[in-house]
This record gives sequence, structure tokens and C-alpha cells, in this order.
Amino acid sequence: MAERGPDGGDGPPVPELIPDRPSIASVRTAAKGCRACHLYKRGTQTVFGEGPARGQVMLVGEQPGDVEDLAGHPFVGPAGKLLDKALAEAGIDRAIVYVTNVVKHFKWEPRGKRRIHAKPNSVEIAACRPWLETEIALVKPRVLVCLGATAAQALLGRAFKVTRQRGTFVPSPLAPRVTATVHPSSILRAPDDDSRRTEMRLFVRDLKRVAAELRKRE
Ligand code: SF4
Repeated sequence: MAERGPDGGDGPPVPELIPDRPSIASVRTAAKGCRACHLYKRGTQTVFGEGPARGQVMLVGEQPGDVEDLAGHPFVGPAGKLLDKALAEAGIDRAIVYVTNVVKHFKWEPRGKRRIHAKPNSVEIAACRPWLETEIALVKPRVLVCLGATAAQALLGRAFKVTRQRGTFVPSPLAPRVTATVHPSSILRAPDDDSRRTEMRLFVRDLKRVAAELRKRE
């Protein structure tokens, strides 16, 4: 099939795939067949967001990883397990959390027999963004948390620096309370046990701020 856009997809752009009266379930089904950018050729399947249809918290990462790509579910690999642990330590019930990504297909480069994560570019992020915007509009989270620089810069602007501004709440039309912290995969990549423990402590600290927001009355 011929390419239809600068992002190398050969299917309709995402807005044309979104049902007229969308629900999370119907949008997830529609996203399964997305070919709006070339990443569908590289990943095994679309990995859509998961969680309660009206989750109080939405966590937005960058893209599915190797394990998620094969499983078809977000945050089920090593970073997801670390995230679950951090949420528990912060006192956030995993059952109220909807997890998703800015980009729904795994972008990777071969290295030997391994598939190595490759960062999505701005064109791929823009192509996929209507899926995320639809998820946010339907789930209506009270608190939205960007995990890592890719999600933070996509949703909060290129000037947002996770290293400097993590854990702070910023004004945004996306949700009543919006913040960003690191991606849990960055904690797994820490060079030694000491720095991994430090990074985990800071991550839990940021999530505790989210927990405190949730305890406030609306
Ligand atoms: S990455 Fe997003 S826009 Fe590209 S094919 Fe996958 S779901 Fe569609």
C-alpha cells in the first residue's frame, strides 16, 4: 500500500479511526488496526492504555517496551513491576491508575538478537497523539503524571525539564493536576545499587505528592 503521510504510515490518520461516540473499549479496538505511521511495521501490535475507564490517576510513559510489545499490555515488563512497587510504597492503589504511552507501538533497533529501544521522534509522536488525547478526554483523570522526558515534553512543552521540575505541579488543560517525574526504566538503568536506591526513593517521593493530591477534596 502506498504511504499516505510524511510519517510513513499507509493507513488513515488517527483522527479518522476514532469512533464518532468513543468509549475506551471502542477506541482500543479501533487502535488495533492503526497504520497511521510506519511504527506499526516494527512493533508486534498496538499497545493501548489500560486501567479503569474513569481512572483517578493517569500515568503516561513514552512507548511500550520489548515485553509490552509481545504481551500487548502496557507496563507489564521490568519497568512496570518497578512502577507497581513504587505506587504501593507511595500509597496509591494500582486499581485507580490508568497507564498508557505517548506512542502505542514499540520502536526498536536490532542489536544482535536483541531489540533495543529507540526513542520516537516528533513526527511519530504527533501521528499517535490523537489516541492519547482521546484517552485523556474519556478517562478524565484528576491527576495526570508524565513519566520521563518524552512524555513530559510531548504534553507539557519542549521547555519542560524533568530533571529540574520533577514532582512539581504545572498548570495544564489536560487535567486538574498535572505533574511529571522520571520513567521507571531510568531507575533500572542506574549504574549501581546505591544510585538505584536513591532514584527509587526520589521516584516514590514524587508519587507521594500525587497521593497527597488525591487525598484532597475536589
Ligand atoms: S505508533 Fe501510533 S500512530 Fe503509529 S501506527 Fe502505532 S498506533 Fe498508529
